[in-house]
Amino acid sequence: MKHKRLFKLAALFVVLAFASSAQASDTAPLTNQPAGKLANKTPDLEFIDTSFENASPLWYEFAADGTIVIHLLYDQERNSPNRAAGHVHFLLRAKPGAKLTIEFKELDNVWNGKPGSIAKELKAVSISENGRDWKAVPTESLPENRVRLAVEMPGPRLYVARIEPYRLSDLDRLLVSIRSNPLVQITPIGKTVQGRELEIVRVGDERAPYRVFLRARAHPWETGGSWVVQGLINRLLKGDVDAQKFLRRYCLYVLPMANKDGVARGGTRFNLQGQDLNRNWDKPVDAEFAPENAVLEKWLEQMIAAGRRPHLAMELHNDGSGLLHISRPPVVGLNRHVERMATLERLLRQHTWFTEGSTRPVFHNAGTLGDGWMERYGIDAVVHEFNCNWIAGVKDFAQGRHWQSYGENLATVFYEYFGLVKP
Ligand SMILES: [Zn+2]
Repeated sequence: MKHKRLFKLAALFVVLAFASSAQASDTAPLTNQPAGKLANKTPDLEFIDTSFENASPLWYEFAADGTIVIHLLYDQERNSPNRAAGHVHFLLRAKPGAKLTIEFKELDNVWNGKPGSIAKELKAVSISENGRDWKAVPTESLPENRVRLAVEMPGPRLYVARIEPYRLSDLDRLLVSIRSNPLVQITPIGKTVQGRELEIVRVGDERAPYRVFLRARAHPWETGGSWVVQGLINRLLKGDVDAQKFLRRYCLYVLPMANKDGVARGGTRFNLQGQDLNRNWDKPVDAEFAPENAVLEKWLEQMIAAGRRPHLAMELHNDGSGLLHISRPPVVGLNRHVERMATLERLLRQHTWFTEGSTRPVFHNAGTLGDGWMERYGIDAVVHEFNCNWIAGVKDFAQGRHWQSYGENLATVFYEYFGLVKP
C-alpha cells in the first residue's frame, strides 16, 4: 500500500517535471536574437499597426536590450522552394520623443532554389508622420545579414516603409484625375485572382504612328514604376506645345498596377496563386494561376490582330542596382534589337537622370516580359530596374518625386527614340 502511494507520488513528480520543462522550452530565448534574451515589452512602444492598405504582414517581439525585432512574412512561389520578403510598411505608435531601435528579420530571398538575402539591398527606408509626406533615412547593416533601423518618434505616430508607398488608393486618385480628359481612355481588361479590376490606360491618339507600352507593379513592393508612369501620364496630359508634339508621334498604353492583390495586402513578389508575374512569358500564360498575365496577353494579341502591335515595351521594377536589362533571347534580328536598345539607353542618359547602365552583353533572362515579348511577339521589350536606395544621377535617396520627374522626361525619350530608330 505504502509503496503504491510512493510510486504514484513519484509518477506525479515526473509528469510535473516534464510539464514544467516543456513550458520552459516554449519560453526559452530564441537563437539568433540580437541580445540573446527576450523582454516582455519595450516601454516606449505601444503597438505596431498593420491594419491599413498595403501594410506588410508581420509580427514582432522585444530583445532584452529593448530592440524591437520585426519578423516579416514571406510570399511563397508555387511548386518551388522560392520565397521572398522585403516589403516593409507599418505604423509605429509610440511615445513622442522615444528613440526606437528596430531590427528586421526574415530577409531571406530564396531564388532559383538557392538561399540568398535582401539584407544588402535594404540600405534605406522611408518614414512619414502622415503617410503622405515621406523622407528617406539610411538603415544600419550588421554582420550576418542583419539590418537595423534607429528612429526617433516625432509624435505619437510614424509610418515606416521600404520605399515611398504607392497604394491602390494612389492609383485610383490618378485615374479619377485623368478619366474625363479626351486624350485618355481607360479600358478594363479583366480581373486579378481576388477579383480586382485591371485596366489599360491609353494616353493619346491610337492613330499615332508609334505605340509604346509600359507595365508597373508586377512585384508589389517595387513602387518606383508606379511613380514613373504617373509622371509620364501627367506630362503627356499637360496640354503644352511639347505634349502635343509628343502625342502626334506616339500613343502610350500603360498597365499601371499588375499585381493589385499583392499591393493591397502588402505582399512582396508573387501573386496570390504563387506566380511571379514577370516570369513564364516565354510560353502561353496559365490563366488559372496567373489571370493578371492572361488578360494582358489577350489584350496584346487583340492589339496585334488589329494592326496595333506596340513598337516598344518597358517593364518597370526596383532592385539594388537600377540597370536596364537588355535580354538576348535566341531570335532572328537580335542585333537590330540590341542596337535599338543601345539607342534607348543613350537617350535615357541624355534626357533623364539615368546613369546606372545596362546588363552585360551575354545577359539572357528567359521568361521575363522583356525577354518573352521579344521572343514570342517580336516586340522591342526591355526590363527597366530602378535603384531602390540611391539615385546617383541626382545624388539623393530614391523617392517618389525623383521617379515622377524621370517619368516626365521619358516623354521626351520616347519622342526622340521614335524619331531616330523608326521601328
Ligand atoms: Zn521586380
